[in-house]
Formats: sequence, structure tokens, C-alpha cells
Amino acid sequence: MSRACCDVAARPAPTAETHVRVGFHVALAGNPNCGKTTLFNALTGSHQHVGNWPGKTIERKEGHVEIGGSRITLVDLPGTYSLSAFSTEEIVAMDYLLDAQPDAVLVVLDAGNLERNLYLATQILETGLPVIIVLNMMDAAQARGLHIDVERLSRLLGVPVVPTVARSERGLDALKAQLAAEVMRTQPRRPERVVDYGREVEREIARLAALAGAEPSVAAHYDPRWLAVKLLEGDSAVEARLAANGGAPLVSTAREAASRLENMLGDEADILITDRRYGYINGLVRKVVTRPPLDRRTRSDHIDQIVTHPVFGLPIFFAMMWVVFQMTANVSSHFVDWIDGVIGGPLTRWVVAALGAVGLGGTWLESLLTEGVIAGVGGVLVFVPVLAFTYFFIALLEDSGYMARAAFLMDRFMHVLGLHGKSFIPMLLGIGCSVPGVYATRTLENERDRLLTGLLVPFMSCGARLPVYLVVGVAIFGARAGTLVFALYILGMVVALLVGLLLKHTLFRQREEMPFVIELPPYRLPSFKGVLRHTWLRTREFIKHATSIILIASVVVWLLVSIPISPAGSFANVEAGDSALAALSRWMAPAFEPAGFGSWQTASSLVTGFVAKEVIVSTLSVVYVGEAPEAPVEPSTFVQDVAEIGLSFAQAAWDTLRATLSLLPGVNLMDDAPEEAPDAALVGALRQAFTPLSAVAFLVFVLLTAPCVTTMGALRHEFGTKWMAFSVGFMLAIAWTASVLVYQGGRLLGLG
Ligand code: GDP
Ligand code: MG
Repeated sequence: MSRACCDVAARPAPTAETHVRVGFHVALAGNPNCGKTTLFNALTGSHQHVGNWPGKTIERKEGHVEIGGSRITLVDLPGTYSLSAFSTEEIVAMDYLLDAQPDAVLVVLDAGNLERNLYLATQILETGLPVIIVLNMMDAAQARGLHIDVERLSRLLGVPVVPTVARSERGLDALKAQLAAEVMRTQPRRPERVVDYGREVEREIARLAALAGAEPSVAAHYDPRWLAVKLLEGDSAVEARLAANGGAPLVSTAREAASRLENMLGDEADILITDRRYGYINGLVRKVVTRPPLDRRTRSDHIDQIVTHPVFGLPIFFAMMWVVFQMTANVSSHFVDWIDGVIGGPLTRWVVAALGAVGLGGTWLESLLTEGVIAGVGGVLVFVPVLAFTYFFIALLEDSGYMARAAFLMDRFMHVLGLHGKSFIPMLLGIGCSVPGVYATRTLENERDRLLTGLLVPFMSCGARLPVYLVVGVAIFGARAGTLVFALYILGMVVALLVGLLLKHTLFRQREEMPFVIELPPYRLPSFKGVLRHTWLRTREFIKHATSIILIASVVVWLLVSIPISPAGSFANVEAGDSALAALSRWMAPAFEPAGFGSWQTASSLVTGFVAKEVIVSTLSVVYVGEAPEAPVEPSTFVQDVAEIGLSFAQAAWDTLRATLSLLPGVNLMDDAPEEAPDAALVGALRQAFTPLSAVAFLVFVLLTAPCVTTMGALRHEFGTKWMAFSVGFMLAIAWTASVLVYQGGRLLGLG
């Protein structure tokens, strides 16, 4: 007992700066899409942990593998093309390599794209870290007829090279053997110099490296030659690091050296260095790669001619998107209904029965558990099918290679908004539900694009807002409600467009226009196992992070509804007009006066609408019509309940299958659900409460107001509390302004 305590105390305390390390640490580095994550999964199996890099919205995967009795920790670094300060991903990767000083770095290369992949590899080799090159996707290279002399590559780079096919787990034994050898090594291994930068540049490098080596505080942290190269390149992240460690004189010496080189050679130092690096790589590749006599056009090229065709590509793209949208927004709804049914039915009955058994039936505790807690947990779980379907399809699109084509096609349009082509997909999913839309921003490689897209997604009118439009719209406008609903959807998109333009030119102005190329990787058969694991891990993350915020919101709303204001009222059994919610709403209502809907009833529906937009309708019903009569609870046995859960699951699975098949043209296996007739009492009350103009203003507010609490949770999970708060405040301000403009504008035009 006491020994364990001492062990803990003896370890260095983790700080933001130091990465805590126990045992042998190996980092995986490589370009995006080189198969790093596949390799990581193949090595670690289920021994992995997914989180975020501290303070970043970039996913961090860590796992471990036992090799020859040693436990090796693997860290999957973000995919990058180089090791500089161009993007957050590159900074994360560089910081990790420099600060955590891993015991070895697996640099994963796509064997079919050696030229491009070696760029990063040469930069990592220069850091002086022990590198093992993993030559992945050997199958794809072979299929293209490339022959790679692995032996020679290893000799020329001076590091071990292991050919693999991560997807079918080929070459993993050799890789593990190499790692085992690395663990056994007693002498530190340092790769020798790779790139020769030419006489003039090398002279400056040598001079700077000598200065760096003579400075103990600097030499302890960085390889002097690597540092010299980085400083000549003018890498801002490295300069900042040095300046913080008393290396400022070195930075200015390097700047002088760089301008000397520019004067002498007529080109900026970083360009000279990049050129030499590419030159070196070209030579290297020529020596180790033998190409087929005629580099024939691949099947991918043929498919691309059609799929990325500026005209014919679009129908294919929209058909694909239609399927993905249908699958996530509609087909998943059968499982959503199933979860809803289980939670509202058997689960609630069991809790009520258990409380009844201990004499607490009908008390406030029962109300808290069934209407606060269970409803809150249910609020999380109903998103699980939607997210699982979303992740599944996104993984399919990504892994097959189609996502890159979609981005390529849409880039022309999305670029106007300052967005990446891939942003189209999160926005589209947002029309179903903002939550998968926000999570789908993960497909974007760049942090700025992710954030900007994430802020715009909630402006897309989601499925939960539709019942509000329909109930209020039909009550006030009857058959003309359809046009209004359509106009609201369009308005959401137009506002997103305007906000996108605004943010692009203000908060999200790009410091430097990064050269932007969308690569088209060859089409690949996705690995089913990988896609499923991906889906599961991400969905699990959502449950972990979303539960607390939704639970808290549900309980808070329950409290607001349950606390009576008048002394005569009894807790948890309150008239709607006497609740704390009503009091809060009366206090808020004047703020909505200029928009034409200043009653406490509408205000209270907006408050509960924070939990979920569709709740607006039920709250309006409760405050205007009074408590909806509760359906009599039919007694059922435990066995009947379990049977009901099982049978309804089977029904949901069957319905999902039928709905999926119904997506095929000409097939309709679904019986169209009967429309629910609107409640006559509610319709009457709404006609009293709203004029046509104030109804429109109200719906505009519902469209644009802050996202529901689950979306807030998703925004916080992805972008942090600060940006979530920004989104909420920003949307509230826009919603208020827009609804006031509608109402006052309408009055000026004499409409109401
Ligand atoms: P990362 O971006 O580097 O993490 O790459 P991923 O691990 O996500 O892999 C990208 C795609 O390449 C996925 O579709 C993988 O299934 C596929 N892939 C990974 N390794 C191989 C391989 O060795 N051969 C082939 N043909 N495909 C692979
Ligand atoms: Mg990856």
C-alpha cells in the first residue's frame, strides 16, 4: 500500500510542457492517407485510447503493443506533408517529436507515392531521432508495376526500411522484429546526414550548427544541424521556441545568414533548401524505383475521368450525397424510435415499479428520475444510431477515396465561402441534424476549416425544427405553410452563406494563403473491420462527452418546471403558469416584444427548446392547452417487457433494411406513415397567440437561435468551451436581430 504511494510520488509531475513517459515510446508519422492509422490499429488492436491533443481539436490516438515481453507505447501523430509551422497538425507533430523525444519514430510512407512522402521523411531524419521507415501500401505499388529496391533505400537513407501492407497486416512481423531490435539497442542510433544542400548553404549550416552546439541550453534539446536548417528556412515555430529559451541571438544570426544566401544565390533560403530537398529525393527515387516501361493509366484514372468531370461528376456526387443523407437522417430513425420506445416504455416502467416497491411511487423523486434523468440519458442515446450511421458512411467515403473527389468537385463552390470542398458534407448532414454535422467536420484536415464549418452547420435547418414550423405554420397559415417551411430552409442556408463570408473576412482571415492542392488518392476497397472500429470508437467518445451536459440540461429544465412560485404550489406538481420556468419566462419575455412574440408562453418554449428543438412544440402545448392527458400505463410483466425490447429491435432492424432497399429507384417497401392530426385546442391557442407576422418572426427565431444542448456538447467536444460559447452568443444575437427585422419590417410594409 505505502509502496504504491511512493511509486506515484517518485514520478515527475506531468505539466503542460512535459509529456509523461513510461517505457518505450514510438511515434507514427506520415502524410495523410499513407495508412498510419491502419498500421496503428493493426499493431495495437483494441489497446488504444482516443482523445485530443491538449488545447487542439485534433484527434490523438495512443495505444500499446507487447513485443518480446516489452510494452511499447504507440502514438499516432496527425498526418502532415512536412515538419514546419504551416498548419496546426504540423505544429502538433513537430512539438511531439521535439518535446516528447520518442525512443523511435515509425515514418510511414505510401510506396506508390515515394517522391511526395519522402519530403517529410527527410525532415524527420534530420531531427536526429531514431527512424524506422515503414514502406506501406506495397500492394498498390506492385499493382502499378513499380519495383522498389528496399535494401538499397535502407542503405542510402541509413535507417531500417520495412515493407508492409497494413490493410492485410502483411509485414507486421518484420516490423515488430525491427521494433524489438530497437528496444534492445543500447547505443543511441543517429541517422547520418541525408540531404546535401550545396556548398554555400552547407557553409552557413555548419557555422550556425557550431554556434547552436556551443550553447548548452540549445544543444541539449535540438540536433544542431537540424536546427540550423530550420532557422535558415525561417520556420516561425522553431524561432519562437528558441526565443523562449534564450536563443534569440541565434535567431538573428540565422536571419543574417539567410539574407546573405539570398544576396549571393538570388533565391530565398527556404526556397533553396526546399529545392535541394526535392532534388535529393528525385535522385534517391530514381535509384531505388524501377517503373514499368510505359506507366500505364490505372483503373483509378479511368474512373476519375467520369467522377471528377466538371459536368457529369455532379449528378454522381449528388446521388451519393442523397444516399448518405437518407441513410443518416431517415433510415437511422427506426433505431432512434426503438431506443425512444425502450426508454419511454420498459425502462421507465421498471424505475416506476422499483420506486413503488420501496414506497416512493408518485413522489418528486419519481418525477426527477423519469422526467429528468431518464429523459436526459434518452436524449443522448437517441443520437447514437444517427452518429453511428454518419461515421460509418463518412469512413466509407474517406477510405474508398471518393471523399477526395467530392472535395475536388465542390471546391469551386465552397471556396466562395472560404471553405474547403469537403465542408459540403457536414453542412448537408446538418439539414438532418446538427450533431452529426458538427462531428463530420473531422474529415477536414485543417483546423481553421473545421472550426469555420462547425460554426456554420447549426444554421442549416435541422430535422428537429421541422415539427415546430409545421405545427405553428399549419395553425396560422393552413395549406400555405409548405411555402413558409421551404423559405425557412433557404433562409438558413442564406444566413450561413452570409455568416461564412463575414467570418472569412474577419475572424478567419487567412494569415498566409497556403498553397492548396487536393490530392486524388487511388480508389481502394475500404477495410470493413477498420470502418467498424472507427465508427465504434467515435460513437463511444460521443456518449462519454455528451452525457454530462445533456443530463445537466434535462435536470435543470425539470427543476424549472417543478419548482412552484406561489407558496401554495407543491413541488413537482405545479401548474404551468406557476412554475419557476414561467417566472423566468416572464422576466425574459419583454426582450422578444420588438419581434412580436413577447408572451411568457412563447419565451418558455424557447427556454426548453435549448434541450431539443422539438420540445418547443410540447412546451407550447403544455403552457397553452395544459398538461397533455397521460396515456394510461398498461401493466406488463418483466418477461413481456424484455420480449417487447427484443421484438421491437428486430422490427427496427427489419424496417432499416426495408428503408435501405427503398432507396433503390422504383422500390417502395415502406408503408407511408399516417400524418398525425394537429391538436385542435393547440391550433386555437396558437391562432390567439400569434399574428401571421409574429408567427413568421417566431419561426425565424427558432431557425437561427442557439443550437440545442446536444449540438452545444458536440461543439464543445470538437472545438472547446470558448468556441461553443461564441457560437451560442453569436447565433442568439443573429436570431434576435433577424426576427426583429422581420417583424418591424413587416409592420412598416403594413403586413401586420
Ligand atoms: P492515415 O491517414 O495515414 O491514418 O491512413 P489510414 O490508415 O486512414 O488509411 C487510408 C486508406 O488506405 C484506408 O482506406 C486504408 O484501408 C488504406 N490502406 C492502409 N494501408 C494500406 C495498404 O497497405 N494497402 C492498401 N492498398 N491500402 C491501405
Ligand atoms: Mg489517420
